[in-house]
Amino acid sequence: TCVQLELLADTAGRGEHLEAIVDPADPDARPAPRPDLRRMLVPIGPVAVFGASNFPLAFGVAGGDAASALAAGCPVLVKGHPCHPGTGELVAAELAAALAQAGLPAGTFAHLLSAGHEVGVALVEHPDVRAVAFTGSRRGGRALMDRAAARPAPIPVFAEMGSLNPLVVTEAALDARGEAIAEGLVASVCTFGGQLCTKPGIVFVPATDAGDAFAAELAGAFEQREPEVMLSGAIRDAFAAGIARAAALEGAELVAGAAAGDEPPGFRSRPVVLRTWADRIGAPGMDALAEEHFGPGVVLARYGAPGEVVAALERLGGQLTGTLHAQPGEPGARELWDALTRVAGRVVFDGFPTGVSVTWAMQHGGPYPSSSDGAHTSVGPTAMRRFLRPVALQSAPAELLPAALRDGNPLGLARREDGVLRP
Ligand code: NAP
Repeated sequence: TCVQLELLADTAGRGEHLEAIVDPADPDARPAPRPDLRRMLVPIGPVAVFGASNFPLAFGVAGGDAASALAAGCPVLVKGHPCHPGTGELVAAELAAALAQAGLPAGTFAHLLSAGHEVGVALVEHPDVRAVAFTGSRRGGRALMDRAAARPAPIPVFAEMGSLNPLVVTEAALDARGEAIAEGLVASVCTFGGQLCTKPGIVFVPATDAGDAFAAELAGAFEQREPEVMLSGAIRDAFAAGIARAAALEGAELVAGAAAGDEPPGFRSRPVVLRTWADRIGAPGMDALAEEHFGPGVVLARYGAPGEVVAALERLGGQLTGTLHAQPGEPGARELWDALTRVAGRVVFDGFPTGVSVTWAMQHGGPYPSSSDGAHTSVGPTAMRRFLRPVALQSAPAELLPAALRDGNPLGLARREDGVLRP
């Protein structure tokens, strides 16, 4: 959380996010003379932030959304999460003190707690709120998107929602390192009780003897794990209900995990492996297989040819991540890689998608329904772009120009001048 705050503060301090552009007047321009035009990004206005249950810090009160909105110059109103109100209050007190120390007005930041949706809804509908940043479930994100769109003056909702994070294993990869892939997959699916938005929820495996042996190995490893600790009773129950719905579908079988009437005590869930066929994924009537199971569960989908995986990926739609385990130079790998690139915001080769590095090149956000707007990321310095809007100033006299756009570049920014990027 501190690394995020420091990186965003550093970027904002250097003014790189302003995207300053200067196009001097040109009386000889064709087809018509051009006036002096200067453009930069300005803060969009107050931002309402909703964090998720599973990230009390990184996507919490001072998490990536709040940090990037503040760095962009926007006041922030955080709707506290009912799963971690105490942590939220502690972080809010620190943040409020830091903002006061920096000399910012008291209204720069607020943390609002409530039981129920009223406060969140009031924030999204308040005429002074200009954007919403949301991290949470697809259902919650979609509800807020619809409310924001129904306002007399609609506002953007940047919602980072759940994802299935498909992972594809080719036959050659299985032959070369099936055991290591199974081991990595167990950790990736079960770490933090599988309650990560980047958990691989669907794994495409060849329908061969080697694929079946891989599934058996995975199932054995899942059976040996202790039940995982869940974030709340409601999340545990939702996970159990979702798995039960999926397991009841024709062509799906539970190969590891919870047997009915054998629930572990407390907020815990047994790791679960379901097995089905690739042509069932995203097929009509099979929604329960293609929804996020937020917990320690994975669906194995057997495929005969890479084309079956490509078709299933297209039916699933937008994803935060997609992963390919193939051998370098393997025929067919390009087709799978390109299909993953079409649907996912981040495509991983020969690894696991669970960890999200906070760096400039990180993309955390994919096409809908993984995010409301796949054109943006919620992690890394470019997350600020969501809370900025461009303004062009035409023929402005020097005294009305902000420093970022003045002649002589007094702030020393990297600017585009007359079409050329200057360091
Ligand atoms: P959630 O139930 O959607 O809650 C998120 C926030 O939205 C809470 O503050 C909740 O407040 C509020 N909310 C939900 N529905 C609402 C509605 N209809 N109207 C107004 N406010 C509403 O999600 P969660 O259980 O906290 O988090 C788990 C989900 O987050 C998983 O699906 C996970 O994949 C996803 N997630 C995504 C990312 C990402 O970066 N893409 C990161 C982490 C988690 P109240 O409950 O108080 O109403």
